Amino acid sequence: MADYDYDLFVIGAGSGGVRAARLVAMTGARVGVAEEYRAGGTCVVRGCVPKKFMVYASEFSHDFEVARGFGWEIGETRFDWPTFLARKDEEIARLSGIYASNLTKAGADLIHGTATFVDPHTLEIAHEGKTRTVTAAKILIATGGRPSLPDNVPGIEHVITSEEAFHLPKLPKSLVVVGGGYIAVEFACIFHGLGVDVTLVYRGANLLRGFDEDVRDHLAAELKTSGLRVLLACQHESIEKRPDGILVSHFSEGRSVESEAVMFATGRVPHVKTLSLDKAGVALNEKGAVAVDTYSRTNVPHIWAVGDVTDRLALTPVAIREGQAFAETEFYGRPSFFDHADVPTAVFSQPPIGVVGLTETEARHKLGAIDIYLTRFRLMKTTFRSGHERMLMKLVVEQATGKVVGCHIVGPDAPEMIQLAGIAVKAGLTKAQWDATCALHPSAAEELVTLREKYVPLGMAAAE
Ligand code: FAD
Ligand code: NDP
Repeated sequence: MADYDYDLFVIGAGSGGVRAARLVAMTGARVGVAEEYRAGGTCVVRGCVPKKFMVYASEFSHDFEVARGFGWEIGETRFDWPTFLARKDEEIARLSGIYASNLTKAGADLIHGTATFVDPHTLEIAHEGKTRTVTAAKILIATGGRPSLPDNVPGIEHVITSEEAFHLPKLPKSLVVVGGGYIAVEFACIFHGLGVDVTLVYRGANLLRGFDEDVRDHLAAELKTSGLRVLLACQHESIEKRPDGILVSHFSEGRSVESEAVMFATGRVPHVKTLSLDKAGVALNEKGAVAVDTYSRTNVPHIWAVGDVTDRLALTPVAIREGQAFAETEFYGRPSFFDHADVPTAVFSQPPIGVVGLTETEARHKLGAIDIYLTRFRLMKTTFRSGHERMLMKLVVEQATGKVVGCHIVGPDAPEMIQLAGIAVKAGLTKAQWDATCALHPSAAEELVTLREKYVPLGMAAAE
């Protein structure tokens, strides 16, 4: 074998790259990692972690109201954005530092800079005008994704994305959030809870395309109850910046909204721009992601790719497990791959959503005969406040086997519940086995093991 600088070189110190690099370095192999921004990647620096801090900060406004319902006297409340930002940034710096030191403790070299292929085994790493060249026997691409903006909206240069939303110098009084996916829904709720006048604008008929229809409808109703303004079937034609700095969003049908800021959350694209993949001969798929097989192998035998850059399932734990499977297969002699079925996922909206497995529609297409169990109920915790909020729980059951193939929850603690429900769905437990589990009372989650009546939607009952 040719004499390379490294046995493995990883491009990107995010969730997937760091897991793979650490595991491989622990075998004694020579591992290098290039990171152009900050160790920890999107999740730690400008994704899940700072986002969850913002969700917590935002939820207090609601909690204060609930507390008042229980007799607490709460004086005037005020949220101080700079204080929050400083604390958040301090913690993110600490966590990013831990990611960097974990890599070096495991024996990997962390090199700051942007890595670009020179040839299939050689990378150039550029940092602040200086470049360095490294060679490696095996290379793992783990460069994640980046926000994507439409290129047909005049004035798009005035908008922010989730990247800037974490560092706004001041909290805007008003904000237009564009998109109907995870990020748009989460950030619209975050800023609404922080007291910003938010308008969420989505081009489709209902938010969160791809989620179960009952989940989508339930969230829409709850957002309405919360007072968040949602404009559906609405799309930007242009964005105008007035001399006073106010942005005017002009929509189709001649409608317009003024706001201090506009945030686009219109999806993310695989981060391949700076890699010069053509120099290595690495092929992309039709979505512009690095094309990989089940084992995360690209078309070039010594190059692999994991995480968002492969556009399979853009979630942190998935990137981590893909990185781990790669390391186990290639450096531990244990061929393994990550099974992308039944991955639990949460939208940290307010109320939050937790889902695992198949939606009702997917199950009908895939499995044919299914049973639905569904309940909507008032939240005990908000009884004394407004009592208007409702929780949704839904189980999708395969008739032939009795297996619970999907679980969908909207309401407080749904993400926590779905992590555990995910064990049962992944294990293929039947509805009878769920029901054999004794309820824990009083809790919301007890509904999951006490759903007795099959649910027949009104329309279907009439049709039968
Ligand atoms: P990343 O974590 O993006 O890491 C890639 C790294 O590569 C980056 O640090 C980047 O700087 C670096 N890089 C890129 N190109 C180069 C180059 N040429 N040279 C050197 N370095 C390079 N997922 C969840 O599971 N739960 C959540 O709650 C959640 N919330 C999110 C909120 C937001 C706002 C966003 C944007 C994402 C969120 N995600 C969430 C998704 C999650 O962050 C990603 O799925 C995960 O970070 C992907 O990990 P990765 O290793 O593929 O890439
Ligand atoms: P999503 O793909 O989830 O949503 C993008 C949204 O933007 C969709 O509603 C889409 O509409 C809309 N859209 C796309 N193009 C346009 C356009 N030109 N004009 C108007 N609207 C447009 O992407 P996100 O950016 O929200 O998130 C990216 C990924 O990151 C997620 O899919 C998820 O995997 C991950 N993530 C996970 C989180 C979590 O686990 N809690 C949180 C945040 C992100 P349409 O539906 O009509 O296509």
